[in-house]
Amino acid sequence: MSFPQLRIGLGLDVHPFSSVEQRPLVLAGVHLEGERGLVGHSDADVVAHAVADALLGAAGLGDLGRHFPDDSPQHLGADSLAILASVKEMVEAKGWRLVNADCTVVAQTPRLSPYLDAMSANLSTLIGAPISLKAASPELLGALGRSEGIACMAVALLVADER
Ligand code: MG
Repeated sequence: MSFPQLRIGLGLDVHPFSSVEQRPLVLAGVHLEGERGLVGHSDADVVAHAVADALLGAAGLGDLGRHFPDDSPQHLGADSLAILASVKEMVEAKGWRLVNADCTVVAQTPRLSPYLDAMSANLSTLIGAPISLKAASPELLGALGRSEGIACMAVALLVADER
């Protein structure tokens, strides 16, 4: 019996909250109405970035910043779901496809539980594989606990595409 070729990848991203009131908060492509947004060169979607980084890592393609530099005018204000879609194409071009991914979003505020299903559905539909999302509280500890930003961790499992 032959064992399928598998690769695992880890992604981590952190973005600080913006002091600009009008900046929207977008997580996994979901706009959290009325919540303070994050600072970033793109739309600062910390969840999409962590998943993209996990996919790139699993495929041995380096980190997100290597492919989407944060000083490139081309990616200013970019939709991170479009970035994630490009990463999926890059990974598939290397002969891999995603089995599943799992993420933990660490945020003191806002409360994410009402949005997790929509966020997960957005990512799963985009990638065509199950992507689960969980929220964790930093329990008031450190910068994340002071609501200075949001972090996200992701793991992704790839299998060699034999099709
Ligand atoms: Mg980022």
